Amino acid sequence: MDTILSLSKRRGFLFQSSEIYGGLNATWDYGPLGVELKRNVKDAWWRSVVQGRDDMAGLAAAMLMHPKVWVTSGHVESFSDPLVECRHCHQRFRTDDLPEPDRCPECGNEGTFTEPRSFNLMFKTFMGAVEDTASQVYLRPETAQGIFVNFANVLVASRRKLPFGIAQIGKSFRNEITPGNSTFRTREFEQMEIEYFVRPGTDEHWLNSWVEERFSWYVKHGIRRENLRLRRHGEDELAHYAKDCYDIEYRFPWGWAELEGIANRTDYDLKHHGEASGQDLKYFDEELKDQYYPYVIEPSGGVDRAALAFHQDAYDEETDSTSRKEETREVLRFHRHIVPIKVAVLPLSRNERLAPTARQVHTLVRQHLSTQYDDAQSIGRRYRRQDEIGTPYCVTVDFQTLEDKRVTIRDRDTMQQIRVPIADLVYILRDKLEHGW
Ligand code: ATP
Repeated sequence: MDTILSLSKRRGFLFQSSEIYGGLNATWDYGPLGVELKRNVKDAWWRSVVQGRDDMAGLAAAMLMHPKVWVTSGHVESFSDPLVECRHCHQRFRTDDLPEPDRCPECGNEGTFTEPRSFNLMFKTFMGAVEDTASQVYLRPETAQGIFVNFANVLVASRRKLPFGIAQIGKSFRNEITPGNSTFRTREFEQMEIEYFVRPGTDEHWLNSWVEERFSWYVKHGIRRENLRLRRHGEDELAHYAKDCYDIEYRFPWGWAELEGIANRTDYDLKHHGEASGQDLKYFDEELKDQYYPYVIEPSGGVDRAALAFHQDAYDEETDSTSRKEETREVLRFHRHIVPIKVAVLPLSRNERLAPTARQVHTLVRQHLSTQYDDAQSIGRRYRRQDEIGTPYCVTVDFQTLEDKRVTIRDRDTMQQIRVPIADLVYILRDKLEHGW
């Protein structure tokens, strides 16, 4: 984890937020490569669950919502964690996070905890110029509620029939008691959530179907199968709205931890919002000639956690067989679809005869793919630098290129090289990015 965090900063994936002022606890800024990685994770998700299916629609609801939403959803009443404070060092902890129930993990004292109290995780703020309770609103702690309150809008506007789902990506905020482990648990984070509406009675089938679908998405995008597992929630763990729930967990350096939860939320949310708002949120099933509140399957994942796991899993070190000095090669073996930079264009040297052609090749490729141009230091050093950020393909322009209008493509993983005409370069790169070397 430490290796990756320091590489992360050096290479521009992740910076501590407000670092020049000493940083703000558990908040992070994504640097030039981090922002590309995150965008690609979101795009891969969106392509898979929205654009790639007939039964899904997208949505982007506002982060600020009517405060009644959070009363109805149960968040005001029960979105809280049990908190204890150590009377000796005054640190606060989530009781369910403590390695030993009665010993303070900070100062090591035993029997110094206060009685647990319930701590609501929602951030509060005010809307408008008056700061009173009537103008108090919450920063959303999940994107899901934006989907539920728009259920009828989307149903009518997109003329859907069950089963169908609504997907959205957006920021959520939770005033976590014990944030930590880099971007794993922060107070501001991004979620990718789906609410999939189904006929009651078919919910168990759809829960299994989404569990399989979402699990294989992580594998397809490069996470090693042995570093993923599925964990079903025990009865005592289930949220107040859930009938069943599975977590997809990743083997982080500190242990197995949740990447995504897939819950059967039953008709809890639509029913409560229907009743509280007085609006008709039932669905008329033409086949059954009956109306009812649909059941909901919710695959809910975190963008930051997914990006962290992809980053972690991609890290590899190997002895560089091409180097005479048996050096170690650090490689990020990102999947081609989520890697921040797809192609690097490298002139063999800084020789001024090579620069114009190398620049032309770069201009050609950058219109289609995220690229970097690098002409500083030896070609070996530059390959190494691209390996460290995971760039799958390096395109090298050499003196022969000036004669035969061909360039060399080098593959990150096999380090094999092929020579191709510049005229076919974009086509070939795209094909390889889609299907692999
Ligand atoms: P945890 O128990 O780990 O805090 P949770 O069960 O409360 O997570 P959910 O409410 O199921 O999380 O949220 C869905 C997803 O949103 C999680 O699987 C995770 O990927 C992401 N997520 C939730 N809280 C955070 C957070 N504080 N920081 C980063 N991502 C988060």
